[in-house]
Amino acid sequence: MKKLTRETEIVHGIHAEPVTSLDLVPPIHMTSTFKFQDVDQGADLFSGKRDGYIYTRLGNPTVDLLERKIAVLEGGESSAATASGMAAVAAVAMTLAAPGDNFVSCSTVYGGTFALFNTDLARFDIRARFISPRLSGIREEIEQRIDAKTRFLYVETPANPTLDIIDISLWADVAGFHGIPLVVDNTFASPYLQHPLALGADLVIHSATKYLGGHGDLIGGVIVGSDRMIRHIKASYMKHFGPVMSPFNAWLILRGIKTLALRMARHSDSAFTIAERLSSHPRVAAVFYPGLPTHPGHMVARRQMKKYGGMIAFEVRGGIPAGKTVMNTVTLCTLAVSLGDCETLIQHPASMTHAVYSPAERRLAGISDGLIRLSVGLEHPDDIMGDLKQALDGIS
Ligand SMILES: *Cc1c(COP(=O)(O)O)cnc(C)c1O
Repeated sequence: MKKLTRETEIVHGIHAEPVTSLDLVPPIHMTSTFKFQDVDQGADLFSGKRDGYIYTRLGNPTVDLLERKIAVLEGGESSAATASGMAAVAAVAMTLAAPGDNFVSCSTVYGGTFALFNTDLARFDIRARFISPRLSGIREEIEQRIDAKTRFLYVETPANPTLDIIDISLWADVAGFHGIPLVVDNTFASPYLQHPLALGADLVIHSATKYLGGHGDLIGGVIVGSDRMIRHIKASYMKHFGPVMSPFNAWLILRGIKTLALRMARHSDSAFTIAERLSSHPRVAAVFYPGLPTHPGHMVARRQMKKYGGMIAFEVRGGIPAGKTVMNTVTLCTLAVSLGDCETLIQHPASMTHAVYSPAERRLAGISDGLIRLSVGLEHPDDIMGDLKQALDGIS
């Protein structure tokens, strides 16, 4: 059959094993263990002489289905599902680096990722070398931080929460030159909008909690990459630290993914409209949305993304008090962290998701105290903007 379009692949693409092929929708294999036919077969499964299921921490048909689906959508050979996005980040970092090693990371990353890199990994003597994505001469800045003990490069784009755009090809080029992998957190874009592996990245991470699940009803993560790398992550970190995904969550994410193309197109189009309208509101000092031609990363985003996604950051005139008024006065938008849900969510990074950064670290990452982050939902954009407008108009 000819190569399917991305939209069709998202709906179809992967099918369950023949035994369950009568179901349009695959069943959920909620079982912790699997029966062996006899002792020899059990031994062969353990030794790897034969493929098959043993125990759900080591593999499960429903989770497998999700992993194969994600690999197809990201254009990777293989994938590993994890209990959360953070488990995916930890699995990759702990697999690629050992005590005494370091890695280079963009400083604008998810708050939990920053805390893991800055604090928890440091306890194992794995050191993050942070770099502001806004530095000029970024290639030289990355180069200066790489030495013989640098095991990988790590970026997130669009970056959380500032919507900075990282040039994936440029980072992949530097990583390739040094023979180390580039890891990209593709959560904000989703595989519908951006394919980091095609741009030269080696591993892709998602918080499946966000756009992949898409309905705010689960926590999950995925890692995509080469067969060799994913097999290694599964055989060591996933097997022995154990942060695997529940088959029920895998099933929910499979269901969520069916509408990924529709949702991402709508999230993106609505966010574009709202970003434009916010820009012209007298109470708004700045809007950060990669789709706006005024955004410093606009040209790179145009090159590496299909559309610009559903996330917006903006600053209100009048600093923190004015921002607080907006967040406390909205009625349709929900004051909550997380993103990628059907409902529009609004939050304050400096006091919420990025409170783990010190004020100096926030400055380096470009996260101002007045920044507001908006995850544009699937409501009509006029209603979302109407709510924001009444809140902005209410600033005294
Ligand atoms: C939410 C998020 C994470 C962490 O994922 P969890 O599923 O909450 O563990 C990592 N990266 C990004 C960009 C995120 O938005």
